[in-house]
Amino acid sequence: MRSTDGLRFGSAGVLPDAPKRSSAGGVAYVGELGLGAMEIEWVRSRMRIVSDRTAKAICRAAKEHDVSLSVHGVYYINFNSPRAEVIEQSRDWVRVQARSAWVAGATDLIFHAAFMHDDDEDTVYERVRRHLSELAQELQADDISVTLRPETTGKPTAFGTLDQVLCLADEIDGVEPCIDFAHIHARNNGGWNTYERFRQILDRTREVLGVAAIGNLHLHFSGIDYTEAGEQNHLLLDDSDMHWEELLQALVDVGAAGTLICECPMHGQEEELKRLQTRYSALKKEQNA
Ligand SMILES: [Zn+2]
Repeated sequence: MRSTDGLRFGSAGVLPDAPKRSSAGGVAYVGELGLGAMEIEWVRSRMRIVSDRTAKAICRAAKEHDVSLSVHGVYYINFNSPRAEVIEQSRDWVRVQARSAWVAGATDLIFHAAFMHDDDEDTVYERVRRHLSELAQELQADDISVTLRPETTGKPTAFGTLDQVLCLADEIDGVEPCIDFAHIHARNNGGWNTYERFRQILDRTREVLGVAAIGNLHLHFSGIDYTEAGEQNHLLLDDSDMHWEELLQALVDVGAAGTLICECPMHGQEEELKRLQTRYSALKKEQNA
């Protein structure tokens, strides 16, 4: 259900005004608003096990309303934990959640892959690479076609620079990046927030992964609060310094397609999505004029 002409905008979870509070209800509401995507937030452990019945209801709603689905996996994944049981558990999370995502009709599983724990970059990269490559192979063998998307993270203590996630995607079949522009901005202490910098991120993605990746992007975006230690909180756009219009212009100019999930605070997310989508459509029109 990927858009072939540009980006679909979507919510991170069930929007507060959705009359039905289930994920399926959230999907239907997003569709009624004229948005094209939703990320299901299976981020806490109580969401670990989703019944097939629930997943199938989500899938039906997505088909009926033409909404592209992704899943944000649990926050507890850490492929660089010093504890073997945490690594085993992380592998299980990915297996279980990828399967549920697939039954729900989601195409992508997004997650934060690891913490650095004072280990050097190459060691952590190699650990994450090994686990993701084994998991991607397992999923393929089980005919579960869900793309694994490690995310660019908001703090230097977390694994996930742009180059790290691009390299993983380049090396492993079944892995693609999730690029979070707010996180990149926060982990670089307020940098990477101009049209040129956004273009650089997208050009680098094309350089490493080829032009097809620009047509199949998965993006996160929000305002963000940060210190020298990186990300603190996600914010509404007007409460932040994020140059969101410059980002949209860069996305239009490179011909980006795929999904952009708005991770602004829930109480204002619907308004932010409308604003982003409206501005994006106007920029697309200008481009085609
Ligand atoms: Zn994100």
